[in-house]
Amino acid sequence: MKEEVIKSIFNLKGTTLQIKLDILDVYLGYRKGARILCHLNEQVEEITKELITAEIKIAVGKGMVTQTANSANNVKDYFENNSENTEKVVPFYIAKNQDYADTLREADESKSDVEFGKMLEYPDCCIKKVAESGHVPSIIESFHYLQENEKFNVWTWPVAMIGDASLLVHYPCSSKCLKSMDLAKKHFKLITNYAPENIVTRVEKYHSSNYSLDKGIIFINEKNGSISPLNNLYEIS
Ligand SMILES: [Zn+2]
Repeated sequence: MKEEVIKSIFNLKGTTLQIKLDILDVYLGYRKGARILCHLNEQVEEITKELITAEIKIAVGKGMVTQTANSANNVKDYFENNSENTEKVVPFYIAKNQDYADTLREADESKSDVEFGKMLEYPDCCIKKVAESGHVPSIIESFHYLQENEKFNVWTWPVAMIGDASLLVHYPCSSKCLKSMDLAKKHFKLITNYAPENIVTRVEKYHSSNYSLDKGIIFINEKNGSISPLNNLYEIS
């Protein structure tokens, strides 16, 4: 039963790996709660069915609007926004019990990244970094602080999200964050055991290539030839 549910979550169509990992974290008890942003038209129904099957409780947040492709964090209540060219997404706060899901929603709506991060059970050290800097890192910031001499640690590389291939659903505090590495390794094990081949291939590709930054855009420089297996080549010891 459990294996069937895990496979079914990995096989959700039109859903990012990040959402799948968030759902799996809650299902498997790796984290008490998660927030997933579901596209109103394409995703809500399928994801809801899956959550019900997995016996996960949901608190539904206000609708949100992603303003532009370049400002993923800039969201507004779409009930107050009638603009046409916007993506409508609904936040689902998910947990094993309803109280936790409801409280999670309240924490997010209170706009405290730190309180919310604690309830999402992100590692303490990573929450501390957000508290000290006053904001959640951007992907460009993480591109810089998570590399040393143009090398990254495959277990702390959220930049792979540009290819929907990140093994983490949060920004690690550093390339050596042990708690983040532990989560990434758990996720990779799930992926190799239960995910369809295309996800495995994508994750391997985005963790065996090099990255570069040009004019604010991150590019992946795929290695020539066949995709090398995910390994510790870039792991900083
Ligand atoms: Zn950390």
